[in-house]
Amino acid sequence: VAELPACERLRARVADVVDLRGAGFLLTWDQATHMPPGGAPARARQIALLRQLAHERFVDPEVGRLLAAAEAEVAGLPADDVEAALVRVTRRDYERETAIPASFTRRFFHHMAASYQTWTEARPADDVQRVVPLLEETLDLSRTLAGYLGPADHVADPLIARADHGFTVAALRPLFARLREALVPLARRVAACEPPDDAFLRRGYPLGAQFAFALARAAEFGYDLRRGRLDPTHHPFAIEFSIDDVRITTRGREDDLREALFCTFHESGHGMYHQGLDGRFEATLLADGASAGVHESQSRMWENRVGRSHAFWSYAFPKLRSEFPEQLADVELDDFHRAVNVVRPGTIRTRADELTYDLHVIVRFELELELLEGRLAVRDLPDAWQARYADVVGLEASSHRDGVLQDVHWFSREIGGAFQGYTIGNVLAAQFWDAAVREYPTIPDDIGRGDFAPLHGWTQRRIHRLGRVHDPLDLIARVTGGPIDPAPYLAYLHDKYGALYRLETGDGADPPP
Ligand code: ZN
Repeated sequence: VAELPACERLRARVADVVDLRGAGFLLTWDQATHMPPGGAPARARQIALLRQLAHERFVDPEVGRLLAAAEAEVAGLPADDVEAALVRVTRRDYERETAIPASFTRRFFHHMAASYQTWTEARPADDVQRVVPLLEETLDLSRTLAGYLGPADHVADPLIARADHGFTVAALRPLFARLREALVPLARRVAACEPPDDAFLRRGYPLGAQFAFALARAAEFGYDLRRGRLDPTHHPFAIEFSIDDVRITTRGREDDLREALFCTFHESGHGMYHQGLDGRFEATLLADGASAGVHESQSRMWENRVGRSHAFWSYAFPKLRSEFPEQLADVELDDFHRAVNVVRPGTIRTRADELTYDLHVIVRFELELELLEGRLAVRDLPDAWQARYADVVGLEASSHRDGVLQDVHWFSREIGGAFQGYTIGNVLAAQFWDAAVREYPTIPDDIGRGDFAPLHGWTQRRIHRLGRVHDPLDLIARVTGGPIDPAPYLAYLHDKYGALYRLETGDGADPPP
């Protein structure tokens, strides 16, 4: 093994940055799970301080000098060599973080704090006019931010690249257009059918038992409880302090059995990704998912492809029924499977079913681009939102509260780069699933027997273990044999919902791709 002294010193330096970030994440996790409300002001200060310290350590010119020396050391190593990847990823993050002037960052966070505060008041009051001037400034700042990170072909490209490196508007526009073209008519046809009965999901299920059941299944999937734990919170998330301490959160409703189950399955997918990283990446910038979209593919796979499948419930439903014998005594497996896959187009993204979820993302992605390009003025956004929902989802919200004010994203961070990852994740989940089943054709049967190790093991070997060693587009090509492609996802949705809703093929709907 060659001696790489600059790489070693860079590693040590970056380890401090990663650990400061991890300490900040721990404060964030506590804030969202156990902190009494009185702790809020001091906690906000402490989190901001740790973020600032991590930033200062990272943008230090010494890191730039070590990077240059390390680059000389790894020159000639193949791109997928761990040491070379470590240097490349560190350089990319370093350039991004040093490109933004400190004065801009201060102004940006100051504005976002004010914007978030106003949003928390304007949303319940349905007062969309109050946020318009703030959103105008956010749009302005977002363009400026993109300029610092640029140059690029499209103003949104640098913002998208921060979350989904390698993806551009030029590549995503046709992907989203294809999904829109196929999903809008499919969702309309399904919505026109009589929905299956799902009233039994609202019969009153004690929350503690729901959480215990969901966590037991997540542990069977492969989420390691020796290196993880589950806590209830308002907005579920997964968060990591190291490769061996990766926590997930969930929420539930006594009057809807779906919430706790599918939130937990979703977050366990994120959690398994981080727990599955190569231990050698500890305290380095390789210890993360390849991109937001690849991360989301893992959560969606366990939530939907496994968690909403007939095979999974043929294994898990008897257990669920013995957990809730009174509530589910008169319910059969097939009825339960149909109920957890009910399609009801609505105006709220976070309550959307699997089939209509991407329609919500499409609306946001299109509007974001139009705002950033200057084709849509902020003052026209609330009405544009309603019109686009009528167009794409087939429904309009009765208020702006459930319209343009529903998501926190545009009121707490820049406009651009936040939403595409959800849909990239859905598309990739289908491609990755197909690749896994090509290699191990018994995976669906294994799931029906409650054996999740073949699928989990495959994702670990092909995706998790690698962290950020490969750039997302390279990883996708290695795993699937090609580029991102919506065809497998659309075929899956056509097959699944065609069967569930007994749709006839060839009566005017798009054929399966
Ligand atoms: Zn997620």
